[in-house]
Amino acid sequence: MNWYFLLIPFLLSVSITSDDYIDYSYPDRMPRAFGKLKERIGKLDSLPTYMQGEGIYEPPIDLTGYGSADDYFDSVFEGNWQYMAAGYDFPVGKPNGRGYYVAQKFMQSGHLGDDFNANTGGNTDLGHPIYSIASGVVVFSKDIGGGWGNVIRIIHKNTDKTYTESLYAHCDKRLVKYGQFVEKGEKIGTIGTADGQYKAHLHHEIRTEVNMPLGKGYSRNPTGYVAPTMYIRSHRPRW
Ligand SMILES: [Zn+2]
Repeated sequence: MNWYFLLIPFLLSVSITSDDYIDYSYPDRMPRAFGKLKERIGKLDSLPTYMQGEGIYEPPIDLTGYGSADDYFDSVFEGNWQYMAAGYDFPVGKPNGRGYYVAQKFMQSGHLGDDFNANTGGNTDLGHPIYSIASGVVVFSKDIGGGWGNVIRIIHKNTDKTYTESLYAHCDKRLVKYGQFVEKGEKIGTIGTADGQYKAHLHHEIRTEVNMPLGKGYSRNPTGYVAPTMYIRSHRPRW
């Protein structure tokens, strides 16, 4: 008898239930888009440490030879349609942010993101998982020190062909690499303190203009940025 048949009820039960059952973390997976992305190498690492925290002045991807960021990322996603974003979930408390609150909101004192903290306060969320809010491709995964610490940036291609970028900062651990495709809900890192500078929290940005320089995290001009919590709430998956 072919005992594989015994697995079928189990597989069905997983596929019809919440994606909370699925652990999407593949930290050792090879970057699949490597070779398609042209990363700016050297410039970031050559900056003195004290300047790195003040902001990165170059976009993560070198668009030389491409008409626009859209043209460029169209080429990256071509043949990788399964990684297009079909909806957005929260980066913590998967999938709906349960157990977390926003400690510092978008545009509060010029803040360009939402700071997610566990309801339990303090450093209780240190090491908690951070999930990609949607499927996409990692265009930046580095420890840049300064006020940023470990930063992950992911580009999402939406079903209406527009692009959205998500950014995750102060991470304790980064589990994804530059050039790697990720799925919605995949564990990409853990919540950290940027080397003890803050109480553990996730600084999360969502940008509708992709591939801008990292910046400083604060500005009076939010052009290209949107309020993460509002954006996610209005783009939840329809199933
Ligand atoms: Zn922040």
